[in-house]
Amino acid sequence: MDNYTFIDLDGVILNSEEIMLERKYNFGLCNHKDKNEFYNYFEFTNNHPEEWDYIIREAKSINYSVEIIKELENLKKKIAILTKIHTLYEMKVKVEDLRQNRKIQCPIFFVPPGIKKYEIIIPNNQLLIDDSEKNINGWISHGGRGIIFDSTIPINTNKKVKSLDFLLKE
Ligand SMILES: [Mg+2]
Repeated sequence: MDNYTFIDLDGVILNSEEIMLERKYNFGLCNHKDKNEFYNYFEFTNNHPEEWDYIIREAKSINYSVEIIKELENLKKKIAILTKIHTLYEMKVKVEDLRQNRKIQCPIFFVPPGIKKYEIIIPNNQLLIDDSEKNINGWISHGGRGIIFDSTIPINTNKKVKSLDFLLKE
């Protein structure tokens, strides 16, 4: 891969994380700072894979990210999705949803538990847009360029953007 822009999925393209946390909460797993709760919840989703169908199907495009990505594809921009997964079923649902439901065509790279994004893609001065500051810091410290996505900020800065539309102007 050479000079691509990598875009995170959960929390940048779709609000899937919000929906996942809502579901987790409804199961009585209310402390989102407790790692064990996430372990228990993902164990539960292994036995009830339809949980991921619900989360991904119900997720909404954040600040027109899905629409902007399709426009970037029309403009032949070199973009790819770089997303963390917790289970193989989650990976399957994400591919089906992005291809069949959202009609996104760009490459999708999956990052399994225990692996960092910069290990799947060698950053090599390429750009990552991610809502996790931790992911961005890891990416930059391994030679990449990074921008934090935060849909709630009033205006874009050099380090943070609220929408992917700045990529249309590049
Ligand atoms: Mg994210």
